[in-house]
Amino acid sequence: MFNTDILRLLLAALPLITRFALTRVLQKIHAVHHSYVYRSVPNPKNVVVVGGSFAGICLVRRLAETLPTGWRVVLVERNSHIHYVFNFPRFSVIKGHEQKAFIPYDRVVRGRPEGVFKRVRGRVERVEEGAVVLETGERVEWEYLAVATGCSQPFPARLGTTEKEEGCEELRAFQDRVTAAGSVALVGGGAVGVEMAADIKSYFPEKRVVLVHSREQLLPRFGKRLHEHALKVLTELGAEVRLGERPTVEKKDDNVVDAAGQSTLRFKNGTEEGFHLVVPCTGQRANVDIIESFIPDAISKTTGEIKVDDKLQVTGDKPYPNIFALGDVAESGGPKMGRAGAFQAEIVCQNIISRIHDQEPGAIYRPNEAEGAIKLTLGQDEHCMYMQMSNGQELLLPHKGGNDELDVRRFWREFGVDVDKDSEL
Ligand SMILES: Cc1cc2nc3c(=O)[nH]c(=O)nc-3n(C[C@H](O)[C@H](O)[C@H](O)COP(=O)(O)OP(=O)(O)OC[C@H]3O[C@@H](n4cnc5c(N)ncnc54)[C@H](O)[C@@H]3O)c2cc1C
Repeated sequence: MFNTDILRLLLAALPLITRFALTRVLQKIHAVHHSYVYRSVPNPKNVVVVGGSFAGICLVRRLAETLPTGWRVVLVERNSHIHYVFNFPRFSVIKGHEQKAFIPYDRVVRGRPEGVFKRVRGRVERVEEGAVVLETGERVEWEYLAVATGCSQPFPARLGTTEKEEGCEELRAFQDRVTAAGSVALVGGGAVGVEMAADIKSYFPEKRVVLVHSREQLLPRFGKRLHEHALKVLTELGAEVRLGERPTVEKKDDNVVDAAGQSTLRFKNGTEEGFHLVVPCTGQRANVDIIESFIPDAISKTTGEIKVDDKLQVTGDKPYPNIFALGDVAESGGPKMGRAGAFQAEIVCQNIISRIHDQEPGAIYRPNEAEGAIKLTLGQDEHCMYMQMSNGQELLLPHKGGNDELDVRRFWREFGVDVDKDSEL
């Protein structure tokens, strides 16, 4: 039967895709012209971007094709490779693909003129007037600063390490724990908990998998229809879903993992259940520490994120016209999704370029429906596309089939590298 959601999704996406494609063609033409007119000069002024993930990289790439002579973009990032977090849940369950979740930075700005881009590897400790200070003591001066430091979450949503090899080790160690565990409880029914529960149960049907969630709706950042679909697929796979439960965990450390022994969950009716592996999939905290001491008023008391205006300029006790924030770290009103960071990068780029040319920034950020769309993996052979329209209508496209490594190849290509040929970078 024809799924009318396909038609609705196409109709909703078509204007956006057309506008995006046309804009990108014009940007590429401009980038070619830019590569001829841009000149590398000694001691250029810096636009510093802290954080090289979905939001930060998009901004760096756009600045590298638009900054005038006399300026350059400096990316400061602590990780050795781009962390492709979308696949961390999958690659923490199945073996042999973990290295693909670390994409080299080497070619993110390929084809851009010499001198327009510099990458500095290191963790920024604090922001000062006109400079960021790394934990090594190194200072990187800025005329304009963009903060794209994202969020911290417990493993497996994010890793505790910054080196590729250590990251692979972290994922492999967890795969071993999953393999060894006869029973697994995932605590938290957001995207990470749902995806992991479905993956573990579909790759290891013999294991007991329980997903525990504090609310009555899974994936509460999305609509009811996605909850119903995820619940149906999980149940068909044989996973147990407990809603409205906030169990206490007897054995608690940073990452409650104990495949050898047992962790006990205590439920509201007083019952206790032991699991070989308990995985907390909750808690997201914006990485605001670098700016906190410089502009304490810029940190939102409600969300803990960096306050920005609709031009994505940081606001606090006063406006900070030379400092921008974007992506998950910014209280922008947009969804906490990679796609939203990309749209915000365009706004920040345009506003920085305007300021450099002594013009009032005019680009305004207004979240669009596509930014909140999600491709949710539901086990080895199933995923769905979901999007909520501004009128509340929910579009859902279930899909059978897929492969173990998900979309990772496409993202390597997007960043100018090949997952097979460039794996040593
Ligand atoms: C499992 C999972 C699946 C997801 N699936 C989707 C999806 O299907 N579609 C979608 O659109 N979104 C998805 N998301 C959400 C998406 O990953 C985030 O919205 C996105 O990563 C946010 O990007 P960001 O650049 O703002 O921040 P982050 O990705 O958090 O990156 C921040 C960067 O800043 C760096 N950094 C932080 N502090 C410092 C410092 N002090 N010094 C130097 N560097 C620093 C970090 O190392 C990191 O590279 C998913 C998230 C998870 C966890």
